[in-house]
Amino acid sequence: MKCDPNLYRAAPPSLAVKPRLIRHLFLPPLVIVLMVGLGYAGFWISEHFGIRSLSENGQRQLELNARAVESEISKYTYLPSLLELESSVSQLLGDPTPEHRQTVNDYLEGLNRRSRSRAIYVMDTTGRVMATSNWRDVDSYLGEDLSFRAYFQNAVRGQPGRFYGIGSTNGEPGYYLAHGLEEHGKIIGVAVVKVRMEAMEERWQRARLEAFVSDENGIIILSSDPARRLKSVVPLSDETKEKLARSLQYYWFPLNELQPLARETLAEGVEKLTFPANSELLPRQERDEENISYLAQTRPLSDTPWNFTLLTPLQDLRREAINQGILVAVAFALVAFLLIAWNERRKVIATRLAAREALQEANNQLERRITERTADLRASNDRLKSQIRERRQAEETLRRAQDELVQAGKLAAIGQMSTSIAHELNQPLAAMRTLSGNTIRFLERGQLDVASTNLKTINDLIDRMGRITASLRSFARRGDDKGQASLGKAVEAALQVLGARVETAAVQLHRQFEDVQVQIDQTRLEQILVNLIGNALDAMQAQPLPELWLEGEAFDGKYRLRVRDNGHGIDAEARKHLFEPFFTTKPGEQGLGLGLTLSASLAAATGGHLGVEHPASGGTTFVLSLPLVSPTPAEPI
Ligand code: ADP
Repeated sequence: MKCDPNLYRAAPPSLAVKPRLIRHLFLPPLVIVLMVGLGYAGFWISEHFGIRSLSENGQRQLELNARAVESEISKYTYLPSLLELESSVSQLLGDPTPEHRQTVNDYLEGLNRRSRSRAIYVMDTTGRVMATSNWRDVDSYLGEDLSFRAYFQNAVRGQPGRFYGIGSTNGEPGYYLAHGLEEHGKIIGVAVVKVRMEAMEERWQRARLEAFVSDENGIIILSSDPARRLKSVVPLSDETKEKLARSLQYYWFPLNELQPLARETLAEGVEKLTFPANSELLPRQERDEENISYLAQTRPLSDTPWNFTLLTPLQDLRREAINQGILVAVAFALVAFLLIAWNERRKVIATRLAAREALQEANNQLERRITERTADLRASNDRLKSQIRERRQAEETLRRAQDELVQAGKLAAIGQMSTSIAHELNQPLAAMRTLSGNTIRFLERGQLDVASTNLKTINDLIDRMGRITASLRSFARRGDDKGQASLGKAVEAALQVLGARVETAAVQLHRQFEDVQVQIDQTRLEQILVNLIGNALDAMQAQPLPELWLEGEAFDGKYRLRVRDNGHGIDAEARKHLFEPFFTTKPGEQGLGLGLTLSASLAAATGGHLGVEHPASGGTTFVLSLPLVSPTPAEPI
């Protein structure tokens, strides 16, 4: 089968391999890069929107808590001004006797208890404490000069004194609200309320809120985390630090800066601050971990120069954003993997389809060729059939011709033998005439026994004549190519036909063959043998001691009979034409030249053969091979 080469023509290797190699080399890094990129984008978007949402939430929290701080502070604003209305206070400031002092001390003590402030005290215009609510305590302010305090200096000038500071007596932090006490339009003293704001811090801690309040100097004065307290949220110059230290506002605290690792301004009053993990400024439980980021939202507190800052931790958000990023990366990897797998499968299916189509095409071609070849074969088969028909007809014609020839040959043989036949028949006839004449006379004389003997002899002679004519009739009869023949019987019949000549010539006969069954018609075998033996007898006419050998042997499924004589043999010229029809060396009417030709044809018609050998010792041997009916030879004769 030849296939269309176009079907199997592949792309040149350089072109087919390169794109695939490039794809295999660059696809994995590309997928990884895209995975990382998309993962980062997922992380960034998640963090961005998370911060925005946190920021909105935080804004509400900021407002709420800032208001709470404002209300806490404003709660005490009116308190110092109340003392203006108290006559005992103005009496003390006008006439500072021990009695007046004690009266005011008691009053302030009661007032302080009710308002839950830390301390309430009254100073004269020089800044000396005239009376105080904590007059009983060891570290009472009574008699102290607090003129250096900024709140006093403001208040004595008629301005509201707001001040966060650490007490110089006991180092206790507090919020100081001062008010200049007026009488007849003149400041006669200053009333101060000290408030502690720790309750606010505790509230924040309980609510797990991270927040702080920074004052006008940028110093954290209130913080949910004590570690951040008294740290500066803005950079402080040495000069400012010096000034603040001298004011003793923050006692002797070092006022370190609250330094974030990174600071990113997201909007007005909104920042992202990152603190180092081991920072002492961070809550204890968060140290020794990763850097901590906060969303810091700041808002000024009304009526004060302070700012309230709310810190919202971002690590949960960050963790969530990382998870989202990983999720996006994994989802992309999955999609990429599915796409690659789908693409590979599509290619495999396409290859299979192409292969199937190629196979189908090859099949179609094969079928076409088979159909063509079948048509050719059918045509040649038809031709062969017609040739066979013609051959059969020719064979039939030939067979008929052969039959005719055989018949002609037989008739010729009969004609050839007519003289001897006539002789053979005349002899008994003459004898019978004599015997019958004698018998009549013996009967007339009454010699019945002699007559009976004569009649018996006549009978024998008639039998012999009948046998001769029967043999001739059987020889002359049309035979058949098929059938079985007994070799023994055929030899006997041939000798019967030629009996007279055999006897006349006194031929010495040697029989060395077996009575086998051979595949030939009995009559035809007899005709062959008559021809062969007859020729031998002819050749031995001049031989004083004629001898005839009939020798047989089985060979290769056939039986080979040799008919050998010690006659004159065949010369070289005659050997060439021996089996040609009408070739004869016999003079006159004696030979027709058909015997050997017909015998060879009869043998060949049954699958046998007739050949000739020329023994060196002289004479001639004809070899007749005929197929055996049964391979087992019969008993030797
Ligand atoms: P015919 O006997 O009529 O001549 P055949 O075909 O039988 O025809 O024989 C052809 C010739 O072959 C004979 O004329 C004879 O010369 C030769 N021939 C046949 N058999 C023998 C034999 N046994 N010995 C010598 N010559 C033979």
